[in-house]
Amino acid sequence: MNAISPATVEAVEAFASAPHQFFVDGQWVDPVQDRGPDALIESLNPSTAQRLGMVPAAGTDDIDRAVAAARRCFEEDWSRRDARARSAVLLKMAELVDGQRDFLACLETMDIGTPVSLTGGQMVDSWIDALEYFAGAPRRISGETLASPASWDFTGRESSIYTLREPLGVVGAILPWNAPGSFFINKVAPALAAGCTIVIKPAEQAPLTAVYLARLFEEAGLPPGAINVVTGDGATAGRALAQHPDVDKITFTGSTAVGQSIMRDGAGSLKRMTLELGGKSAFVVMSDADIDSAVQFLVMMGVFSAGQFCMCPSRVFVDKTVIDKLNEKLAAAMGSVTIGSALDHQTQMGPLITREQRSRVTGLVDGARREGAEVLLGGHELDTGGFHYHPTLLFHPDTRLEIAREEVFGPVLLSVPFDEKDLDSVTQMANETRYGLAASVWTNNLKLAHTMVRRFQAGIVGINSHGFVDPRAPFGGVKQSGLGREFGVEGLDSFLETKTVTAFY
Ligand code: NAD
Repeated sequence: MNAISPATVEAVEAFASAPHQFFVDGQWVDPVQDRGPDALIESLNPSTAQRLGMVPAAGTDDIDRAVAAARRCFEEDWSRRDARARSAVLLKMAELVDGQRDFLACLETMDIGTPVSLTGGQMVDSWIDALEYFAGAPRRISGETLASPASWDFTGRESSIYTLREPLGVVGAILPWNAPGSFFINKVAPALAAGCTIVIKPAEQAPLTAVYLARLFEEAGLPPGAINVVTGDGATAGRALAQHPDVDKITFTGSTAVGQSIMRDGAGSLKRMTLELGGKSAFVVMSDADIDSAVQFLVMMGVFSAGQFCMCPSRVFVDKTVIDKLNEKLAAAMGSVTIGSALDHQTQMGPLITREQRSRVTGLVDGARREGAEVLLGGHELDTGGFHYHPTLLFHPDTRLEIAREEVFGPVLLSVPFDEKDLDSVTQMANETRYGLAASVWTNNLKLAHTMVRRFQAGIVGINSHGFVDPRAPFGGVKQSGLGREFGVEGLDSFLETKTVTAFY
């Protein structure tokens, strides 16, 4: 993409630094109670460590107000709109996003530190793709008609049995910081397509894209209350949403620990849940693999977003006959990644989200070193003024290290040898994690490829590809990587409830 113009940067800075409010019931509103300046949350630009903006922190009363607005809109308006009307809003939204792609890419980049080369290209494109895909969904919602009459009626009447697919109701969406715009769209688009209304709580570290996208949805013609955005922290606002008795479903992307807490909090009202949680993906390279393309994917998926990607291929298992070659090429490719300000369009890897996140990565890598890992590249922070960490490649002969189990969320890959004559051992290493989000196998040997596909305990599996996302394809994890699927038919289904109708006449 072309460089972002200074005028766009200025416009983003002006938006970000302006006073912000919640978007509730189609209005921009202040918190119900004025809790003073301490109740503001600061969002930093991770490339510079400077303040980008401040947003208000919601109390439980703000969540109550937003849920009430969503409920009113659900009952009186949005769930009653026909398929064409729902579809039109999503298509209009896709058009608005397309028209503001530079602004949105720049805002996302300044809020989370993902290079503008990614946000401005494939990221905004993927938002448009998801909006357009779900714009087609309302017309496809259908139940089924059972062929034969009911067998247990003793009166001899005619009967029909059929199912209706109805919107679930009010949805609470709790977002992470690593791709806030994507998760906003991925949750809002199917919810609205299904006829649900939604209250969104973005992450405290990166709330601004969600606030701006609410503006665009307002412009796209959504009725008041269909979307509500309430900024705040997890312990208060997030929990209030998860516990709220009038919220029918939570859709959450974030860490496994918080997902578990949300499940507990939602149990009281038996909320429906879609949980997209952490990952510790395995990337398995067989001896015949195209090493160059494996290396290219590892850098793209493991380094470009500074490893802050749930499907980051953080554990690279390589057949012992090709591991030296792969490590050498991978270290060279990771070492030549252009690191810098995320706004510079030459930059391939930006900073980590916060100083704390970088310290966590430093701690994990230092721990791995103490446990005997060989550092083939990097292994240290970078002095840039932002929160950068050097792309890091570690090697260890087995998976005993803490870093082989814990999600790092940094640009750190661990390479481990295996012998492809012993597929059981690599299967065991690939699956010996509580997570099960993504995995991939790199080979042109059909038998090896499909054997590994069946053996992987993961929701997203690649053959000569890793971490594929497409709105048509169900996305989600097994084990402690989550519950349910986003995207695809299942993604839409998760916002619908089935009603069985029996008619006798
Ligand atoms: P996080 O779990 O710390 O926070 C996510 C959101 O939950 C934030 O909005 C936060 O305010 C809120 N929250 C925190 N405590 C809460 C509570 N008790 N109740 C309700 N809400 C609460 O996650 P993060 O640090 O923002 O994101 C990183 C994590 O997200 C990583 O583990 C990553 O793997 C995961 N992730 C998963 C996917 C996926 O699709 N599977 C995608 C991206 C990120």
